[in-house]
Amino acid sequence: MKIGTYFAYWEQEWDVDFFPYISKVANLGFDVLEIAGGGLADLPDDKVLLLKEEAERCGITLTVCLGLPANLDVSSEDETIRQAGLAYMKRLIDKTALVGAAQIGGIVYAYWPVDYSKPVHKEAVREISIRSIRELADYALPYGITLNMETVNRFEQFLINDAAEATAYVKDVNRTNVKVMLDSFHMNIEEDSFYDAIISTGSYLGHFHIGEANRKVPGKGRLPWDEIGRALREIGYDGTIVMEPFVRPGGGVGSDIKVWRDMSANASDEQMDADIAESCRFVRNVFCK
Ligand code: MN
Repeated sequence: MKIGTYFAYWEQEWDVDFFPYISKVANLGFDVLEIAGGGLADLPDDKVLLLKEEAERCGITLTVCLGLPANLDVSSEDETIRQAGLAYMKRLIDKTALVGAAQIGGIVYAYWPVDYSKPVHKEAVREISIRSIRELADYALPYGITLNMETVNRFEQFLINDAAEATAYVKDVNRTNVKVMLDSFHMNIEEDSFYDAIISTGSYLGHFHIGEANRKVPGKGRLPWDEIGRALREIGYDGTIVMEPFVRPGGGVGSDIKVWRDMSANASDEQMDADIAESCRFVRNVFCK
C-alpha cells in the first residue's frame, strides 16, 4: 500500500502551486501527493511537466482528486452542461497523463456539493452519469488512467452514498479502468460496518481516502483503524491510500468543507507538519502489518 496526503491540509484555496508540496510530503514520509483536478486541468504544459519531473526526483506518486462543479456536471439532464463536463474531464485526463499520474478520483460522476433546493431525479441521473463515465473511461484507457468513483455522504451527493451503491454503479459502467473509491469520513456516516464495506467492495476498490470522523489526521480520533487495516489486508489491497485532513478554517477550502472552527489546537506550521508525519507513521504501522 502506498500512503499519501492531500495538499489541502496546508491550504485555504484549492487552486495553488502544488510544486513545493511534492518534496514536502516526501520529507514527511509519504509516498503519494494528491493534487486538485481543478487547478491541473488549466495548468500550462510546461508547468505540468515541472510537477512531473519533481515527483520523479522525489519518488512521489501523484494522484488527482476533484468534485465537478454544477456547470460541468457529467450527470446533468441538460445536454449542454453534460458536454461541457465531458470536454473538461477529457482536458483533465490529458493533463493527468502529462503529469505522470494514473488516477483521477472524487465526484467525477456527477457534481459537488449537490444543490438540494432542486428536485432529485436519482434514477434518471444515474443512467446519464453511467453513459458519461463510460465515454470518459474509454478516453482514459489508452493513457492507463483509472477513474475512481468517490462514495460520499448523503449531505453532499445522492448518487453513490455507500460501498454497495458504488460497487453496483461500477459494475454497471463495466469498464476495467473505473473503480470504487471509499472515504472513511463518509463511511462513518453511511456504513453499518467499515470491515463489511471494504470486504464487499473487494477488488473493485481503486483508491481510499482516510481521515477521522471530524476530518482530523488518522490516529487522533475514534475510527477503528485496526479493523479498516485488517479489511484492506484481507482483500489484498495494494493501491493508494490518501489522507484528506481538514483542520483549519478559512478560505474556499474551509467554506467548501465546512470547517468553522480551528480544529488544529492552534497548531503552528511546524506542529501541523509534525502531526501529519506522526499520522503517516501511525497509518503504516496499523495498515502494513
Ligand atoms: Mn474524500
